[in-house]
Amino acid sequence: MAEPEVERLGLIGIGLIGSSIARVARARGLARHIAVQTRTPDTLARAETLELGDSYSTDPAEAARDSDLVIICVPVGAYEGVAKAIGPALKPGAIVSDVGSVKGSVVQQVVPHLPEGVDFVPAHPVAGTEHSGPEAGFAELFDNRWCIVTPPNGTEAEAIARTIGFWRGCGSEVEVMTPEHHDLVLAITSHVPHLIAYNIVGTAAHLEQVTESEVMKFSAGGFRDFTRIAASDPTMWRDVFLHNREAVLEMLGRFTEDLTALQRQIRYGEGDRLYELFTRTRAIRRGIIEAGQEIDAPDFGRRPPPPKSGG
Ligand code: NAP
Repeated sequence: MAEPEVERLGLIGIGLIGSSIARVARARGLARHIAVQTRTPDTLARAETLELGDSYSTDPAEAARDSDLVIICVPVGAYEGVAKAIGPALKPGAIVSDVGSVKGSVVQQVVPHLPEGVDFVPAHPVAGTEHSGPEAGFAELFDNRWCIVTPPNGTEAEAIARTIGFWRGCGSEVEVMTPEHHDLVLAITSHVPHLIAYNIVGTAAHLEQVTESEVMKFSAGGFRDFTRIAASDPTMWRDVFLHNREAVLEMLGRFTEDLTALQRQIRYGEGDRLYELFTRTRAIRRGIIEAGQEIDAPDFGRRPPPPKSGG
């Protein structure tokens, strides 16, 4: 096996994403030593049983100490506390990265707490599932999925290159953009769709004329797909909305305008306009399949294990 990309990898948080990184790093020899940290003894014991690392601690500073690459894998609302805890323990030349679904806010939370000579190279693997915890991860999660790297101005080129190299080693395709642009793109491709799913499942739960058992019994493809998305981790998603407020509100404003237009078209029987939109959206779906980001299999909800995707 080739020399590892990283001597010592520190993982702060060992849920779905952290444990997937641990698994792929181990499977592909990306790190010689994996230092695992998580906040609770219970999760730490589960990570140890799964043999995800070489050393284990509930103290973030211990995982960060002597690590060449430290990856923060906790909900984005917890970053500032983590950055304060790891800052004094980081060695000169270390790289701090992360996996958070929001990027502008994490730069603001982390950068002020890093010592001189340590670069923050934020990353967002656009890959995930609706499951959480160390048992939910798997080594192939990042294969052929995009990882968006969003270095703040002034980041050392070598630190960016090494972070990109690590994510390519995990199987990802990498794209570089600014944190602000990332947050706008993800607001429409991921954050608003999740909000719509949470809302529609919530609306169905509040209906008085339709019983809950009818909703479950007759959940056709459309609703069922929303329930999968709306089963995503509540803490993670609360933090995403609170930390990408501006971009989400901007995209929600546009969404609301378009929804009102659709409402009018239905009210006034403007079938041609509905048909035209539905034709355009079908082409977008075809584009996603052609880009290899989804498979073109009919989904009746009863197939064997679904493709693991999301993010
Ligand atoms: P997860 O499975 O729920 O694991 C969360 C990890 O963070 C656990 O180790 C947990 O520790 C720790 N944690 C939770 N709250 C914390 C707090 N307040 N302070 C310190 N540590 C805390 O979550 P995940 O799905 O891996 O998500 C982690 C990050 O990846 C998030 O920033 C998310 O935005 C991003 N992300 C998620 C997905 C996805 O589909 N899930 C995709 C791409 C990116 P304990 O268990 O010990 O409490």
